[in-house]
Amino acid sequence: MPYIEPASRIVLIVVFSLFSIIRVLYYRRAMTAGYATVIEESRKYSIWLSVFICYEVFTFFLYIWFPQTLAWAGLSLPAWSRILGIVLGVAALLWFVWIHRSLGTNHSARLRIKDRQVLVTDGPYRRIRHPMYSAFYLLHIAVFFLTANWFIGVTWLAGLTFTVVLRVRREEEMLLERFGAEYGSYMERTGRFVPPLKPVRSKPE
Ligand code: SAH
Repeated sequence: MPYIEPASRIVLIVVFSLFSIIRVLYYRRAMTAGYATVIEESRKYSIWLSVFICYEVFTFFLYIWFPQTLAWAGLSLPAWSRILGIVLGVAALLWFVWIHRSLGTNHSARLRIKDRQVLVTDGPYRRIRHPMYSAFYLLHIAVFFLTANWFIGVTWLAGLTFTVVLRVRREEEMLLERFGAEYGSYMERTGRFVPPLKPVRSKPE
């Protein structure tokens, strides 16, 4: 399929741009909602996040505008893997929009608890505690298939894993501190990144 490579480049640009636009729109909405911060993570963690995002944007532009610089890590994957990348990228985008709509002004790039924060437990949050991180995994896997470049695939996924490992426990501790037993029982009936395998026990009347 001769058009699959340019087509996956176009999908990559569209998906990456839409992800960034959605991110900025919802980030601004959350920042201007006028909520006060009650608990906040240390600045050192957000520095790492900024460095990692800059690295991703830099390698993304390198791949799009100067493809020769990363050609040494190119893989000759079959055409179906690019198509899989397109499907995963579009799915991640739609999933991401649904998550942001559900989380609303409770969202924040840096981990924090706000005074008027409510615990969201419906929509994508009904069975999964961190669907946004799952959406990022989906996006990163899509980027690997769309670029067919192992260097981008490995470093992006490793960076994401490091970010999530660094965040997820502290995030849950913060939410437990704020919502107590409500978050405790929410943890019992949900999975971190994928729905739990065990069936949910209905509470006795
Ligand atoms: N980890 C979540 C949200 C990421 S945004 C996800 O992957 O979907 C990070 C902010 O969301 C944190 O500052 C935290 O206070 C807030 N948050 C996380 N889960 C929440 C929930 N279920 N309800 C309300 N706010 C939540």
